[in-house]
Amino acid sequence: MSDTKTLDREYIAGTYGRFDLELERGKGSMVYSADGKEYIDLGTGIAVNTFGFCDDAWTEAVTAQLSQLQHSSNLYYTAPQARLAQMLCEKTGMKKVFFSNSGAEANECMIKAARKWSHDTYGPDRSTIITLRSSFHGRTITTLAATGQDVFHTNFGPFPDGFEYAEPGDLAMAEELLKKGAAAFMLETVQGEGGVRALGKEYIEGVYALCRKYGALFCVDEVQTGNGRTGRLYSYMHYDVQPDIVSTAKGLAGGLPMGATMFAESTANVLTAGLHGSTFGGNPIAAAGACSIISRIDGELLASVEEKSAYIVNELSGAKGVKGVSGLGFMLGIATEAPAKAIVARLMEKGVLVLTAKDKVRLLPALNIDFELLKKAVSLIKEVIADETPA
Ligand SMILES: *Cc1c(COP(=O)(O)O)cnc(C)c1O
Repeated sequence: MSDTKTLDREYIAGTYGRFDLELERGKGSMVYSADGKEYIDLGTGIAVNTFGFCDDAWTEAVTAQLSQLQHSSNLYYTAPQARLAQMLCEKTGMKKVFFSNSGAEANECMIKAARKWSHDTYGPDRSTIITLRSSFHGRTITTLAATGQDVFHTNFGPFPDGFEYAEPGDLAMAEELLKKGAAAFMLETVQGEGGVRALGKEYIEGVYALCRKYGALFCVDEVQTGNGRTGRLYSYMHYDVQPDIVSTAKGLAGGLPMGATMFAESTANVLTAGLHGSTFGGNPIAAAGACSIISRIDGELLASVEEKSAYIVNELSGAKGVKGVSGLGFMLGIATEAPAKAIVARLMEKGVLVLTAKDKVRLLPALNIDFELLKKAVSLIKEVIADETPA
């Protein structure tokens, strides 16, 4: 075993079941292992490396900032953070941004702001936040409570109160819960970790209308779906809705840790001086990376994501061993007859890195992946799925 694997197993807390693969360097959608093998990467570090590994423009933006000012704390003004907030607001119509360092933190901020808004608007007794079954909102104690999966509600109790879980797709149930008086409804438009399940237009717009009817905030967790991943800058833009709060993280800074919570007019002034903060939040290097990413997610790129996504769906739908393809844009889940884990392992041997989500094979390619490279990977995926499928 390599030194890295030995040291990792000895000294790193055993929270991760890692693949037996040590990655050393990457460029674009190609990544190279420590033992010299090359792989086509369709996982992007779980939807993080928006433009692949070490994209030139991103690397230049980050290294330029790195030698200028790496950190200042939020006691001072810094340009990358201000420019990024402006860019996000201009592209979304949101009014204010709070920066943090991860998806869980972006959601913590969203939850705190929703509760504070309800406190300001209705008084202290209307704190419930409705989330969905099969959702995933993070690993802090409160975002675990928000996560609508029983497997996450063990070991670490007591969990905070104030979350109720609705069944995705069931508008009657959403209405029943909202009727009781909630602060907010919080959802992912495509449930990522929950199995790449797209909620669909009717349900999302239905929940939005119900939030308006019953005076609850409509909050969207775009930690995974955001930053171009689904073929829109933010996935809510596929629908006729205007969220009150949007959280995002993963792909925002293209591979550096950064979270953002964006507030619409309705919630723009809820968090005031001293109510929230983060030492690292809005770090200049991460913000410079994010400016490079967000400024380049334009209509042309998003159209190419949709085109390439349609290619994947078209190639795999009805292929041998494929039960169905779910998701949106470059956030795709493949339901297969053979176990997803075996397919992922076999693809790794063949030089293609893909992920799983629940019992599906999951694809999260870089937004700018070369079409010929993608076609090569898809043909290998098709071949492996067919090979693994029992006759
Ligand atoms: C990954 C994810 C999170 C948690 O993000 P971290 O950066 O791991 O804290 C929250 N919500 C969704 C939808 C996610 O996909």
